[in-house]
Amino acid sequence: MTAHIIDGKTIAAGLRGNVADAVHRLKRDRGHVPGLAVVLVGRNPASEVYVRNKTKAVIEAGMHPFDRNLPDSVGEDELLALIAELNADPKVNGILVQLPLPPQIDSQKVIAAIDPAKDVDGFHPLNVGRLGSGLPALVPCTPLGCVRLARTVHPSLAGLEAVVIGRSNIVGKPVAQLLLAENATVTIAHSKTADLPAVCRRADVLVAAIGRPEFVRGHWIKPGATVIDVGINRVSDAAGKSRIVGDVAYAEALDVAGAITPVPGGVGPMTIACLLLNTLRATCEQNGLPEPAV
Ligand code: NAD
Repeated sequence: MTAHIIDGKTIAAGLRGNVADAVHRLKRDRGHVPGLAVVLVGRNPASEVYVRNKTKAVIEAGMHPFDRNLPDSVGEDELLALIAELNADPKVNGILVQLPLPPQIDSQKVIAAIDPAKDVDGFHPLNVGRLGSGLPALVPCTPLGCVRLARTVHPSLAGLEAVVIGRSNIVGKPVAQLLLAENATVTIAHSKTADLPAVCRRADVLVAAIGRPEFVRGHWIKPGATVIDVGINRVSDAAGKSRIVGDVAYAEALDVAGAITPVPGGVGPMTIACLLLNTLRATCEQNGLPEPAV
């Protein structure tokens, strides 16, 4: 069997196009232009690349970017004051604080200071709780992207066995909650799970969010399963050339899985597309407009 490759790049481009169309209609019919504030503290090169890509995507979607850059030395009070200013600004519909933050700043305190209605990363405890309670919420972008990719293969996930490897607050746990909300039967596996290969072999949908290169082997995968690989790992070959691989041994998995996301070009592009979607949703919600059908 050769797995169907879930083309996240194309699916994300389609979603971004649909969001841009909805933004255009919102502007034309209601005069609202969604605004997203991305707050970057310091000069972490990876964070700078992420923020640049997010800002480019925001502009392409017809939204207003409100980027704010603060020095690495910024104090917690100053950052909290900026969050309060953005919370109060009606032109700003979404706020994202790029993580990680420098050690003098308590990330949890900063996340909790964001207005939950503008929390487009879905990390605020209120949104985490609402997702867990099955209530409407802004939900984290990468997990949302994973579920949307799985649904391109299984329009309904109801009754399927889903195994999520990883229990982080930004990927593993919210992905599991979203799959549960889709009526899948969900198992969360992690570093203390006994006999991980056997747990994985139960999965009709296997989500790997571990951060270990090519950790999930082909023989761990149930034949025909859908594999969503969240991992982004940089590895070097014998000649010292570096490349990005996922958490799944892709070549092995291709022979067993029914469908699989490649790395790069799978989950990664969906994260920014879902950030735009969340910003659009937040704008509609804040203005008393119906949920956009995107
Ligand atoms: P994390 O380090 O916070 O969590 C990793 C999880 O993997 C932990 O819950 C841990 O229990 C589990 N784990 C570690 N070793 C294990 C083992 N031996 N067996 C079973 N489980 C094990 O990482 P994270 O932030 O959740 O990210 C996971 C991966 O996803 C990373 O590679 C990260 O770069 C990637 N990521 C990608 C995107 C994207 O947009 N595609 C977004 C976020 C994270």
